[in-house]
Amino acid sequence: MTYDCAIIGGGPAGLNAALVLGRCRRHVVLFDNDDARNHVVRESHGFLTRDGICPSELRRLAHEELAAYPSVELHQDKVTAVKRLTETHYEVTTASALSFRCTKILLATGLKDEQPNVPGIERFYGTSLFSCPYCDGWEVRDKPLAVIADKNVAKLAKEVFTWSRDLIVFTNGEGRLELDERELLESYGIQVVEDIISGLEGRDGQLERVRLEDGTLIDRSFGFVTPLWSHGDHFAESLGCELNEYGGIKTDEYGRTNVWNVYAAGDTANIVPAQLIVAAGSGSAAAIGINGDLTNEFFGKPLPK
Ligand SMILES: Cc1cc2nc3c(=O)[nH]c(=O)nc-3n(C[C@H](O)[C@H](O)[C@H](O)COP(=O)(O)OP(=O)(O)OC[C@H]3O[C@@H](n4cnc5c(N)ncnc54)[C@H](O)[C@@H]3O)c2cc1C
Repeated sequence: MTYDCAIIGGGPAGLNAALVLGRCRRHVVLFDNDDARNHVVRESHGFLTRDGICPSELRRLAHEELAAYPSVELHQDKVTAVKRLTETHYEVTTASALSFRCTKILLATGLKDEQPNVPGIERFYGTSLFSCPYCDGWEVRDKPLAVIADKNVAKLAKEVFTWSRDLIVFTNGEGRLELDERELLESYGIQVVEDIISGLEGRDGQLERVRLEDGTLIDRSFGFVTPLWSHGDHFAESLGCELNEYGGIKTDEYGRTNVWNVYAAGDTANIVPAQLIVAAGSGSAAAIGINGDLTNEFFGKPLPK
């Protein structure tokens, strides 16, 4: 069988694309290896009607809804290779050594986070340290916050100030903060600490103190960090997809990449703003693009050169 579309990645982007394509009666196969970057959090926020939902519960509900669409298949499997067979056919191979043929590919594989170089940061990431104030700022409003950042320091600090005036910025010896930016932050009562952080203290995921190299302990209970984002795979590169200025896969508003028949949605394309609802929305738009292109092809519109 040749599927209309293979979706790689079953986060909100891939799942919403599957929903829309299933409702278009398209034959869809979706692969997911359950390793989303938000798996560290217990609650996610800002998705209307689902504010505070656990990410795994959001997926469970999505799977339940998709079960109503018989032309959508979900596979708990990792895609290891995507090969172009002809101008209109691709082959997707999985870690279980299964192969699937399809006409269109939707890349919805999300991103991978690499944390700043602070010992023990992973013990707190997702419980008291977060990356996005729009996702978790409300929950930590008015708390003693840390911004731990080695890039875009001033921008993140100014944003976080929206939620708490009790804010200390840690550049961890590496961050670049121009003098005028530092002075601006300090003029608003934001302390800037440029020393290297030697560790974070706290228990059960709850941050209590930031420890500097000289032994100084600074009380902080929550904070925001700036991870480095990367694609966890080489599909975009191997398929010849161009990247946008943020490093995401470049697409038009319907998820079309520069490679005919290859689409992208969610964080892997947009990078910022990274939100569940934005990812789900872009999955929906890509599905509409895919169905529109399949329809045009069916009615004989010539393929672009
Ligand atoms: C700590 C943290 C907290 C966050 N909190 C919030 C929040 O409160 N509210 C909010 O709106 N957003 C939040 N976000 C952002 C949100 O999680 C992302 O924007 C959203 O999950 C992106 O959806 P996606 O479908 O693009 O990618 P993802 O959700 O990352 O899903 C991608 C999926 O693709 C799968 N995959 C990748 N490669 C393969 C492969 N080769 N084969 C098969 N499957 C593959 C992965 O396992 C994963 O399941 C948070 C992010 C982080 C890191």
